[in-house]
Amino acid sequence: MSIAIINYLTEIQFGCGAIRELPQMLAKHGIGRPLLVTDAGLVRSGLIERIGLPRAALFADVPSNPTLESVRAGAGVFHASDCDGIVAVGGGSPIDCAKAISVLATHPEPLEQYAVIRGGLPKITSAKPKVIAVPTTAGTGSEVGRAALISFSDCCKLALISPHLIPTAAICDPELTLALPPKLTAATGMDAISHCVETYCSPKFNPIADAIALDGLGRAVRAIRRAVDHGQDVAARQEMLMGSLQGGLTFQKGLGMVHSLSHPLGAVPNKPLHHGTLNAVLLPHVLNFNASVCAEKFVAMARVLETTPDKLPQLFETLVRDIGLPLSLSAMGVVASDLTDIPAAAVQDHSTPTNPRAFTAADCQTVLQVAL
Ligand SMILES: [Zn+2]
Repeated sequence: MSIAIINYLTEIQFGCGAIRELPQMLAKHGIGRPLLVTDAGLVRSGLIERIGLPRAALFADVPSNPTLESVRAGAGVFHASDCDGIVAVGGGSPIDCAKAISVLATHPEPLEQYAVIRGGLPKITSAKPKVIAVPTTAGTGSEVGRAALISFSDCCKLALISPHLIPTAAICDPELTLALPPKLTAATGMDAISHCVETYCSPKFNPIADAIALDGLGRAVRAIRRAVDHGQDVAARQEMLMGSLQGGLTFQKGLGMVHSLSHPLGAVPNKPLHHGTLNAVLLPHVLNFNASVCAEKFVAMARVLETTPDKLPQLFETLVRDIGLPLSLSAMGVVASDLTDIPAAAVQDHSTPTNPRAFTAADCQTVLQVAL
């Protein structure tokens, strides 16, 4: 067995009203003039005003998938406004963008050199501004994760990964997720669920993360229907936010084939496909592909979800249908020609080495055909 690397714990304030702790948290971490990174929708919703950080500089130009250009623009505002820290408020996109801004604030361009598949991990140092993450969706777990996914227009979507990208602290307030519409609650929630499944099935030795992933899986699967159907149900929102956080805490084990496929699919030109919805569609098919090498883990997941191991893929398919998400890639608008380059990109993805069953481009082709 290789030596395990197990890292815990990010400072997390969790619970209804936790957002009120933000000013004290900034003071504690010596941040006097933060750059607030968010998106235009959250500014329009009035949330940013409600959070009320009078001395913050605002950068709200984060697109639905953060791009190199948005990271550059954010780093520009950081310097122009003499900021000394970053607060990221939003879903995975503002949080990932904020993480990449924190790199560019102190590290030389080009940003692409810090991507993990370009050998960038050791190039990201601790000499960078602190990031406080405030999630407003329950899905990505980016508030405690060490990755930032950035789109590069001349190639693709690349992941920056480093322990120094883990936010200094996170504020997880379920009340901030109450306004999330049903479709986004469903899609982001399935992202959280797929993180718990994939990190649990990753063959890396980390029983601590395994326990967290299984607990998060049960919590999120039990709560997601209520969170989708009754958005104001704070208890359901709290369970989803915890499940999402737990999925994020276990990222250090690595993900698997669901994410290997959804990362390049999310970068198909001119076709914005939601990451969580892609994962929801792919999850049952990838479970079928992995079943033969994951017998014990399927037993444990089935126990948590009160089913039998052979019925796990079907359980997730039923769940996806119940929460109103599409069951196939074609129902999302994907056509066969969109898939041409996906298998080769999936094999190269950073999530591929930790899928429990090794796979080739031909295997990806087969799974995609079934999912189409
Ligand atoms: Zn994900």
